[in-house]
Amino acid sequence: MSANTIKKAESLAKNGVVRVEEDLYQVKSSSDTTKSYFVTSDTCECEGFKNFYKFHHGRGLKANCSHLEAVRIFEKMRKKSTA
Ligand SMILES: [Zn+2]
Repeated sequence: MSANTIKKAESLAKNGVVRVEEDLYQVKSSSDTTKSYFVTSDTCECEGFKNFYKFHHGRGLKANCSHLEAVRIFEKMRKKSTA
């Protein structure tokens, strides 16, 4: 994953992630703040995520995008703060 994606994910994790319920999050789009995506721990509904499987189909790779990564960072921070 590019450093740029990680940077985006970090800023989204701080102020663009809402936990809807167990394993369901709403993550703001970093390019269009009026948009948001529903994300679980391993799926996202954004174009980047869908395209990943189009381009890397069958290679055993797991798709990733800044929203998924944002949720991972968000969960890490949440667990730290409640521990
Ligand atoms: Zn995404």
